[in-house]
Amino acid sequence: MIHSKGYAAQSAETNLAPWNFDRRDLGPHDVLIDIAYCGVCHTDVHLTRNEWFPGIFPMVPGHEIVGIISQVGSHVQTFKKGDRAAVGVMVDSCRTCEECRNGQEQFCSVSPVLTYNNLDHSGQPVYGGYANNIVVPEHFALHVAENLDFAAVAPLLCAGITTYSPLRKWKVGEGHKLAVVGLGGLGHMAVKFGVAFGAEVTVLSTSPNKAEAAKKLGAHQFVVTKDEEQMKSALRSFHFIIDTVAANHDINPYLGLLKTNGVYINVGMPAEPWQLPSFALATGNKVVAGSGAGGLPETQEMLDFCAQHSIVSDIELINIKDIHTAFERMLKGDVLYRFVIDMATL
Ligand code: NAP
Ligand code: ZN
Ligand code: ZN
Repeated sequence: MIHSKGYAAQSAETNLAPWNFDRRDLGPHDVLIDIAYCGVCHTDVHLTRNEWFPGIFPMVPGHEIVGIISQVGSHVQTFKKGDRAAVGVMVDSCRTCEECRNGQEQFCSVSPVLTYNNLDHSGQPVYGGYANNIVVPEHFALHVAENLDFAAVAPLLCAGITTYSPLRKWKVGEGHKLAVVGLGGLGHMAVKFGVAFGAEVTVLSTSPNKAEAAKKLGAHQFVVTKDEEQMKSALRSFHFIIDTVAANHDINPYLGLLKTNGVYINVGMPAEPWQLPSFALATGNKVVAGSGAGGLPETQEMLDFCAQHSIVSDIELINIKDIHTAFERMLKGDVLYRFVIDMATL
């Protein structure tokens, strides 16, 4: 067994606290990564607090992981000791089903293994990146270019790919007006990618104090969604809206901002289901679409795109002992834009 230390929630009612645990030994195709940084995704809050469904406890969250390879199995071919590596939302799958063959391993229909709050193929719980190390099959580790700020790469592994993937799928780019709902971890990456792909980007935010910061990210317009006049002036404006909101909310006011044939892409995962209004969708042939993270080939493509275009996340680096405060601040929208844990503080 490989000894690990990290921070875990022992139940949905307890705050994260230090916890020692074991990970499986390396198989011939596995790599051991010494984790340098791990991003704090809103999903970590949803899951450790059982906001979606009962979790597997103790739970070590974290699926925005970057680190250095410290050991490789005998058959590993693409990594060597000392290489940069990254791990996102999944650590194994069947690798043979239609989804896996199509590079959409996150939707594996046979035996997907998410990075934490899940069981591996031998039925053992898997633990995430709020820890000093992780063992994953080489196939599920991504390569990270040396030119990028390592800590600021971590959020690309979830917030980055989750916004890159649907913007690519819907071919958002030049000539398109894109609106981003919610300027948090996912939202700020949607702004960066939207701008990089050539779209005109508007942020739709509940927080007037984020206007300046949004412009710095490259957003062309900023609309305060609580201001009726501003919302009125944005009616029928956008070809695409990407919704990254973590809290329960009504999408009706946003649907009115789409042009005819507009597409509402949802990536946020509030606990309460939406009421989808048939009239608002029929009027203007509107599309509501979902998107879940991204597969391995596209995640590597996204990391390579970021290396080429010098794109990383805007982060606030934290000591792991402040993780509870970070969760609370994220719930208040008080972070520009992603907390990243410096694992040296563990
Ligand atoms: P986050 O950093 O907390 O950002 C969420 C943003 O939503 C906030 O910054 C805030 O932006 C806005 N917001 C908060 N309350 C709101 C309300 N009541 N009405 C409207 N807007 C509100 O969260 P995140 O890490 O980006 O994650 C966002 C959501 O995506 C979470 O539910 C997470 O679980 C989900 N997620 C999904 C996937 C996927 O595969 N689809 C992957 C990762 C995460 P403003 O201050 O600008 O309004
Ligand atoms: Zn995430
Ligand atoms: Zn599969």
